[in-house]
Amino acid sequence: MNQKPIPNRRNFIKRFSLALGTTALGIPLLNLSSCQSEGGGNEQAGTADQDQQEQANTRKLGIALVGLGQYSKEQLAPALKETKHCYLAGIVTGTPSKVAEWQKAYNIADKNVYNYQNFDQIKDNPDIDVVYVVLPNSMHAEYTIRAAKAGKHVICEKPMATTVEDCQRMLDACRENNVTLAIGYRLHFEPYNQRVMELGQKQVFGKVKSIKADNSQDMTKDSPDVWRLDRKLSGGGPLMDVGIYCVQGACYTMGRDPVAVTAQFGKVTNPEYFKDVEESISWQLEFPDGVIANSNTSYSTEANLLAGEAENGWWRVSPAYAYDGKEGETSEGKMDYPQVFEQALQMDGISQSILENKPTKVPGEMGLRDVKIMEAIYEAARTGKRVTIPA
Ligand code: NAD
Repeated sequence: MNQKPIPNRRNFIKRFSLALGTTALGIPLLNLSSCQSEGGGNEQAGTADQDQQEQANTRKLGIALVGLGQYSKEQLAPALKETKHCYLAGIVTGTPSKVAEWQKAYNIADKNVYNYQNFDQIKDNPDIDVVYVVLPNSMHAEYTIRAAKAGKHVICEKPMATTVEDCQRMLDACRENNVTLAIGYRLHFEPYNQRVMELGQKQVFGKVKSIKADNSQDMTKDSPDVWRLDRKLSGGGPLMDVGIYCVQGACYTMGRDPVAVTAQFGKVTNPEYFKDVEESISWQLEFPDGVIANSNTSYSTEANLLAGEAENGWWRVSPAYAYDGKEGETSEGKMDYPQVFEQALQMDGISQSILENKPTKVPGEMGLRDVKIMEAIYEAARTGKRVTIPA
């Protein structure tokens, strides 16, 4: 698979160092521009940069998916057939019956198939550069840390973890082992959401005055016996799963981190499903200059909106967070951007940043920030008080 041997690969693929221009919580400010290469530097640096660019253009990173559930099977693996900078090299599964089908569909060698017990042996496998953790939320920390200890770069699905402490342990492990930690925030690679980042952060219609972000998915049509409704595995209800996109949307509209939040749990209308996690929750995120982002997320209705109002205009993307079919409008007319395979662009974008030793647009620090915000939202809803979000 287009694998040119690279001298001194370990030296070349190093952990990124965080970019200049970060928010208080350490997130690169204008994510739109953080993928652009930086100019300047001396001639030697230019040559080294060109070398890295060339390597990045000719070599594909081998990705191993950990957890072969719905998202891996229906989105990530097919996306890895389209990517230019990475490919599906390995799988990690606890279900042996899935192995043959995956090996056949993706031409995966026997030596690149692992289970949860022998997973740590992946450290001796040069075919695998990146481990992509696609397991239930509470398992993200363990597998990210084990992957980091095996010397592999990590992409971890959202939410990064179910507690701030776990996020911190994951960041520490990746830092100690000199590997990248990126979060599977695909919308940073998608044109409609990128346009919202531009409209808000570059103040195209003047200062942002307010944001509305809703994301709800009805879970009550299927069985209640799923990990998403089990707090031990999910860490919470719709907020952790789909509401996180509203938190993200508000932050990337503003290009800043929120400072405080108020929140309210919705009524439980279906106790058979919502014994353990919230059925719905609303919250109001406050940004430093008083801008409020109003959001709601629910597991018993459907919604999919990211909208903003600025001094001289407005925008509205709906659906904003779905895998495809994005539609949007601004005060100047219909938004018209290509529909893209965003998981392919996301994995290519992250792989390129690893290959070129540049910061990723979606670092672990961003995942930690969002888990801090979600913990504050839950605390605000539980206490009925305005909760300050720690920096
Ligand atoms: P899923 O239930 O379809 O798959 C989960 C996988 O984990 C299965 O292969 C299952 O066998 C395995 N697993 C291992 N131990 C398990 C346990 N104790 N209980 C249950 N399953 C166990 O879930 P999914 O929809 O693929 O979600 C996986 C992760 O991906 C979650 O963190 C989710 O938030 C994330 N996700 C992200 C997106 C996105 O758009 N970025 C979309 C869907 C899911």
